[in-house]
Amino acid sequence: MKKFDVEITEYLQKTISVEADNEADAVVKVEEDYNKEKIVLDSSDFIDKDIEIYNPDKFTSKLDLLMQRIDKFNKDRDWDQFHSPVNLAKSISIEANELLECYQWNDNANLEDVKEELADVMNYCLQMSMVLGLDPIDIMNKKMDKTEKKYPVEKAKGVSTKYNKL
Ligand SMILES: [Mg+2]
Repeated sequence: MKKFDVEITEYLQKTISVEADNEADAVVKVEEDYNKEKIVLDSSDFIDKDIEIYNPDKFTSKLDLLMQRIDKFNKDRDWDQFHSPVNLAKSISIEANELLECYQWNDNANLEDVKEELADVMNYCLQMSMVLGLDPIDIMNKKMDKTEKKYPVEKAKGVSTKYNKL
C-alpha cells in the first residue's frame, strides 16, 4: 500500500495521510473516518438518546477546530502582534456596529450581510478568549449561572425589567 495525503476543507483545512492501494481508496477512507467523526461532532441530533456519543478525549469539538483554524490563520500571517486585548475589544465593538448597520434603514436586513457581520463579531470574541487564555464555553456558562440567579423565572417571566428593579 502507498501513502496518500488527502485534504479536508470543511471545519478545518487540514491534510490527513492514509495508506491505501490508490488515491480514490485513500479519499474514501478519509471520508469514512471523517464522517464518523462528524456524526459524533453533530451529537446534538442524538440528545434524546440515552448514550454518551461525545468523547472529548477522542474527538475535537467543532469549536476547538474553529479556534485552531483562527489561530493558524493569524500565525500564518504573523498577525498575533496586532491582537492585543484592547485591539480585539475595539474590533468586537466595530464589528458589532457593522452588524447594527445591516439594520440601519430597515428592520429586515439582508440575511447574508447579517451572517457575515455576526461571524466577524463571534470570531473576534473567540480570538480575544484565546489571547486572554480563557475557555469561551466556560466563561459563557459562568455568566449564565449569574444571569439565571439575577433573573429568576418567577420574577422575570414575560417582563424586560432590569434585575435591580424586579
Ligand atoms: Mg465586518
